[in-house]
Amino acid sequence: METDVVVIGGGVTGCGVAWDLALRGANVTLIEMGDVGTGTSGRYHGLLHTGSRYVASDLTSARECYGEHTTIRRVAPHVLDDTGGIFVLSPSDEESFVEAWTAGCKAAGIPVEDIGPAEALRREPLLHPDTRAAFEVPDAACNSFELCATLRRSAESLGARFLTYHRVESFQEEDGRVRGVNATDLRTGETVEVRCQAVVNAAGPWAGEVGKKAGAGFGMVLSRGAMLAFNGRWTGAILSRLRPPGDGDIFVPLGPTGVAGTTSVPTDDPGDTRIEDWERERILSETEAFLPGVRQARILRSWAGVRPLYDPGTQSDSAEGTHVDNRKAARTFDVLDHAERDGVEGLVSIVGGKLTTFRLMAEKTSDKIGEKLGVDKPCLTAKTEMLAR
Ligand SMILES: Cc1cc2nc3c(=O)[nH]c(=O)nc-3n(C[C@H](O)[C@H](O)[C@H](O)COP(=O)(O)OP(=O)(O)OC[C@H]3O[C@@H](n4cnc5c(N)ncnc54)[C@H](O)[C@@H]3O)c2cc1C
Repeated sequence: METDVVVIGGGVTGCGVAWDLALRGANVTLIEMGDVGTGTSGRYHGLLHTGSRYVASDLTSARECYGEHTTIRRVAPHVLDDTGGIFVLSPSDEESFVEAWTAGCKAAGIPVEDIGPAEALRREPLLHPDTRAAFEVPDAACNSFELCATLRRSAESLGARFLTYHRVESFQEEDGRVRGVNATDLRTGETVEVRCQAVVNAAGPWAGEVGKKAGAGFGMVLSRGAMLAFNGRWTGAILSRLRPPGDGDIFVPLGPTGVAGTTSVPTDDPGDTRIEDWERERILSETEAFLPGVRQARILRSWAGVRPLYDPGTQSDSAEGTHVDNRKAARTFDVLDHAERDGVEGLVSIVGGKLTTFRLMAEKTSDKIGEKLGVDKPCLTAKTEMLAR
């Protein structure tokens, strides 16, 4: 099989790269070992962030999120549920955080309205009756499965090929240059060879392992988080606590459920989707602080995902799976050109980021691939509406 670019990974990042490159006229083949959206992208909390959660800790990420939030509203409105968001100061939260948070939102350009506790309780009767402050932001819930399917549909309509249930096992290299990949069709056991001019490693938490197969390994800061989905939405808006990011401080009305989460547990295993008893208990007790009574509700299901964070500031090149305070690891992203880093021409990895910033991550990655292929076509994804159906 021949193609211009192989994209490894069918999460939101890889699907976004496939869509971007296809819009620029490249012939793309995406290879995914499961179905699209079955990695972290199908195991997330459900927010298209405005960035307001990060304003006090990571202003760059907050600005990136807000810019992308407004773009995704334009190009893929059908994957969103425009719930809005309310940040609340619970009885046990520190009042001093409010000033830093509102100043951060202002600096990031995120619109915030002080609606006060009485209005918040009128809109959200299940909120803690002693809520001390409440601010409205334009957060939205996002159906990530529909987003991945939409990106796939949009890319395929431009000729992209998606090989799902195929796992990339090794790279084909000639003269220090990546020239293709060898994948296993997991349903038949057959080996499939795909020749190409460049490869994008968009394997999320598996990106370090995939890079290693080409002799271009790097460390990820993997962080596992758990979510609990309750029977019923419980709230109209997404609720977040006014405090530095911590466990169990966001509640998202998602489809017919309300989803509480999350946790942040260091792990070395990208497939580590365990939920420990203390995580379930921590989420329940922290959510109870702003939504009292939630502990009595029926939990329909729970899941966990692994954040594919990358923060070179917290690790050395050889420190795979370094244990750091994962909540402090940057939520921004990096495009790694392995020609510059490791002497492996033709391989680019995209690491870090968030679901909210996938489009920008895909744009920067595709720019780099364009440079490598000598193709100077501009990115069109910020102004091209995705195919809804
Ligand atoms: C608990 C939690 C909550 C989160 N909440 C939010 C949120 O509310 N809002 C937000 O914006 N972000 C959130 N995030 C972050 C967001 O989910 C991720 O940043 C994003 O989904 C990563 O997408 P990805 O495509 O990079 O990775 P993935 O979705 O993991 O995709 C990588 C894909 O690569 C495939 N793959 C790996 N190795 C191979 C191989 N050898 N061959 C073929 N395929 C391979 C995997 O099967 C996988 O499907 C959350 C993350 C977690 C863990």
